[in-house]
Amino acid sequence: MRVDAAIWIREFAALVDAHAEELTALDAAVGDADHGTNMRRGLAAAVAALDDSTPATPAEMYKQTAMALIRGIGGASGPLYGTFFLRFGTAIDSGSGTADFARAFRAGLEGVIARGKAEPGDKTMVDALAPAADALDEQVAAGTSGPDALDAAVAAAETGRDATTPLIARKGRASYLGERSAGHRDPGATSAVLLVRAARRALR
Ligand code: ADP
Ligand code: MG
Repeated sequence: MRVDAAIWIREFAALVDAHAEELTALDAAVGDADHGTNMRRGLAAAVAALDDSTPATPAEMYKQTAMALIRGIGGASGPLYGTFFLRFGTAIDSGSGTADFARAFRAGLEGVIARGKAEPGDKTMVDALAPAADALDEQVAAGTSGPDALDAAVAAAETGRDATTPLIARKGRASYLGERSAGHRDPGATSAVLLVRAARRALR
């Protein structure tokens, strides 16, 4: 079993599209009310690029997607998700098993951290991505693969997302609010759950 690159990107786009209003509403509370619009625009560009020319290898597909996200999303989230896919694609290379996916997912997370300098607990997408990466590593170490490993990653991402609500934001626009950012779920952690959920749906 493997996560199919093209299906993952398309499923992510579909989930973002379905949740765009929710993401924007969350960003209205702590930011500038554009996270849903930003993500929808970026993922639509990524899907359009796939439709235009499907690259020969998954690595190239991830790179093309990264470029669409970096170019297509105006906000902070574009370069961050772009970096995730860039690093993921480089790390996945030609591997396709659950262990390869876990390793590449961690490389993607490390890219996001290197670029955005957010640590777990800063109330960002890292708060959903890091628990997902940890869950994947645990599942691989336990010999679990495929659907069960991805299910665990989704559950961990959701728990991490929900745990952002009481936090005070220390990165991004929400940090300008200081203590007033507490009591709101982070938009980027919410879209990061969709990224993991899309990967689960792309298992073939
Ligand atoms: P902008 O904040 O520029 O309007 P978006 O609204 O698209 O961009 O994205 C906001 C989300 O990006 C936040 O909810 C947060 O999860 C994430 N984010 C912002 N800054 C950082 C950072 N430095 N590191 C990681 N994630 C970040
Ligand atoms: Mg915003």
